[in-house]
Amino acid sequence: MSKYVYLFNEGNAKMRNLLGGKGANLAEMTGLGLPVPRGFTVTTEACTRYYSDGKTIAKEIENEIYEMLEKTEKVVGKKFGDPTNPFLVSVRSGARASMPGMMDTILNLGLNDLVVEGLAKLTSNERFAYDSYRRFIQMFSDVVMEVEKAKFEKILDDVKEENNAKFDTDLSAENLKEVVKRYKVLFKNEKGFDFPQDPKTQLMEAIKAVFRSWDNPRAIYYRRLNDIPGDWGTAVNVQEMVYGNMGNNSGTGVAFTRNPSTGEKKLYGEFLMNAQGEDVVAGIRTPQPMEQMKEVNPAAYEEFVKIAGILEKHYRDMQDMEFTIENGKLFMLQTRNGKRTAAAALKIAVDLVEENMITKEEAIMKVDPKQLDAILHPNFDAKALKAATVIAKGLPASPGAATGKIYFTAEDATEAAKKGESKLILVRLETSPEDIEGMHVSQGILTGRGGMTSHAAVVARGMGTCCVAGCSDIKINEEEKYFIDKNGKKYVEGDWISLDGSTGNVYGEQLPTVEPEVTGDFATLMKWADEIRTLKVRTNADTPADAEQAMKFGAEGIGLCRTEHMFFNADRISAMREMIVSRTEEQRRKALDKLLPMQRSDFEGLFTAMKGYPVTIRFLDPPLHEFLPQEDEDIDALAKEMGMSFDELKSIVLSLHEFNPMMGHRGCRLAVSYPEIAEMQTRAVIEAAINVNKKGMSVIPEIMIPLVGDVKELKFVKEVVVKTANEVIEKAGVKLEYKVGTMIEIPRAALTADEIAKEAEFFSFGTNDLTQMTFGFSRDDAGKFLDDYYSKKIYESDPFARIDQTGVGKLIDMAAKLGRQTRPDIKLGICGEHGGDPSSVEFCQNAGLNYVSCSPFRVPIARLAAAQATLKEKLGG
Ligand code: ADP
Ligand code: MG
Ligand code: MG
Repeated sequence: MSKYVYLFNEGNAKMRNLLGGKGANLAEMTGLGLPVPRGFTVTTEACTRYYSDGKTIAKEIENEIYEMLEKTEKVVGKKFGDPTNPFLVSVRSGARASMPGMMDTILNLGLNDLVVEGLAKLTSNERFAYDSYRRFIQMFSDVVMEVEKAKFEKILDDVKEENNAKFDTDLSAENLKEVVKRYKVLFKNEKGFDFPQDPKTQLMEAIKAVFRSWDNPRAIYYRRLNDIPGDWGTAVNVQEMVYGNMGNNSGTGVAFTRNPSTGEKKLYGEFLMNAQGEDVVAGIRTPQPMEQMKEVNPAAYEEFVKIAGILEKHYRDMQDMEFTIENGKLFMLQTRNGKRTAAAALKIAVDLVEENMITKEEAIMKVDPKQLDAILHPNFDAKALKAATVIAKGLPASPGAATGKIYFTAEDATEAAKKGESKLILVRLETSPEDIEGMHVSQGILTGRGGMTSHAAVVARGMGTCCVAGCSDIKINEEEKYFIDKNGKKYVEGDWISLDGSTGNVYGEQLPTVEPEVTGDFATLMKWADEIRTLKVRTNADTPADAEQAMKFGAEGIGLCRTEHMFFNADRISAMREMIVSRTEEQRRKALDKLLPMQRSDFEGLFTAMKGYPVTIRFLDPPLHEFLPQEDEDIDALAKEMGMSFDELKSIVLSLHEFNPMMGHRGCRLAVSYPEIAEMQTRAVIEAAINVNKKGMSVIPEIMIPLVGDVKELKFVKEVVVKTANEVIEKAGVKLEYKVGTMIEIPRAALTADEIAKEAEFFSFGTNDLTQMTFGFSRDDAGKFLDDYYSKKIYESDPFARIDQTGVGKLIDMAAKLGRQTRPDIKLGICGEHGGDPSSVEFCQNAGLNYVSCSPFRVPIARLAAAQATLKEKLGG
């Protein structure tokens, strides 16, 4: 028979999959002899069984829970539901991966009308007892019974106002009794029955609610964002309550062993006296910084510092800890490897190596490559920053530079993002887990309340989003959607502001930004990553500027240069249009002759920037009509320019219309119809390479034919390429090596890769198109229905962001094998968006590809992900 419930002293940190992160670490801390309130963990397997049993808890599991409850009662010496000696517990969620604030916690469970009186008597602290009860009724009603929290808060606010109380702590026992009375009336009105009085019923219902919370929309969204599988489930921890709300000698807090924003080696955190649970992070009262605990309670402070040291050494990583002080005595309620900003992650990883706590390999594994995205984005231009006026100052909660239009609700921000707004800042009094999507689409978050460990701050740091929190300089009116700065100026929805997450400064204008650099700890870690990885990292770049940026970020070549992007420039588009509307080969060649020198000089620039590294150039790919004018006015203008009648040109434009351009006349099909296009592009590539080589570089151009589905297509175009190239080379009287290969982006190409490899010297997996064609839906339209797929749990992640390993991955694996069969030294790479996605990079490593190619700003991400993939492969094999 399986075991579904573990006492804290039966588990340890290695049992994370079964006990969840929180449970495993509570067990580990118990084992270390630290002061942890007693309890037990209901496993993640019980959660998955809850779902497979049709959302019920099996009798055997229920019995096991009661058995462990009894054991805990014995050790603690208190009894569940006994008014003379009551045992109260917290019911806490805890998945394998930490999902902060994504699921719900219930405190003080076991209270009812009788027990609360007993507790008051026992502790001689009526105020405390009723404070605990009102908290319990609210949390239980919200989390388990789905009665809105806001309705309870309204009552609390009313009672505060009636009694002139500023904070919760100003309420007397009598006031709190009144709150409880009104809460119970509210509950009955909402649910039609009395608030549940039986502690065992409370417990089972609470456990079920935590299981259910695994599947609430914000948890599903968070999992998708963080690649967490839906079938892991959450564990539930049931733990003896300790009370931070017993008076001014009690309190609760959150602290990190190092600064999670900068990585500085210094205890960092906040606490609040006479408070419980989420009071610290909810931002209702402003917490005190950790140092002040030295004065408030020196003994508890010293013990905490000692424990923090023990935990950091034990876990060999920065810890994020939660604690409570009950009548002067310290209790540890949680520890975990702390979430941190990218800058802090890099500093801590490098510092821990220097402190001899971890190896370089471990340091590499500690930094989440996705996180680097945040520091690979621009900072404010120093000059502009100096000239700008600060309109308010808040807490520097998550670093970064954000500039954007302001929105006052998460929904409005999400809406704006859907409409294509790319720069937005979410302004809220405080954020809550419901706001997660709006936070994610925003470049910056500004809150009026809350500290460095408030929800907004923690989530923003996790996302790498810039955040200024607790900015009391501004007066926010969420209902009417405006805020007033400290000088009295009003800002409404759509106005521009800028946030500096490193200083907490807010600027009332749009500020220009500058490019990031890889230096210091970042450079050190990257160097270590390069020593380890076996996969090469190239970049997708169409211009010398992009190529140079990518080189600075460590790119080892260009994996994809999209030549059509060169044609979109204003000075070229007319020659391009002329080429497209030509009716004869002669006309077309004339237009191509105009394009040739432009392309040639573009390639020279690109080859020069890449200093001899390989450059893959993809020939013209998109449907031709993308280049044509669509409005009558523009058609008229072009017609005049080309000496054509409006009607003639209009009919050409119409004739180029396609019903499904993604699968239309594009890619190598263009070169099959008009070989002279491939001829011109070959000439430009080869001549550019010869010119650059004359200056002492050694360019080996790689010509890539797109959208091949049949080896005969490739053979046809390749013949044009080779004939032209050899003519040019011969005429120049030089030696030049070049390669001809293809994209694998049509399923048929993957299926017949052995045939295609007869002609292709390299394959580059174009996973954007390959994903579209394999799934049979276009990337541009998928947004319309993917949300339904996530909420109905058909897909867990966006196949365009993360390779679908089961389907598309199978095609890649197969094509790689078939390709190597025919041509053992065939070079294999990937050039879709996926090239910069860490989980996809790992897939590429396992498929045995030679390189990944991604956009310049993702190059460092790919380098780190590739090192991690190499290390994981070593461990696995
Ligand atoms: P989260 O995963 O959202 O952080 P937790 O389960 O850690 O949720 O609970 C939130 C807070 O509730 C804790 O930080 C702690 O302050 C309080 N809490 C949880 N369990 C107990 C307990 N047994 N005694 C006192 N406070 C508790
Ligand atoms: Mg919580
Ligand atoms: Mg917690």
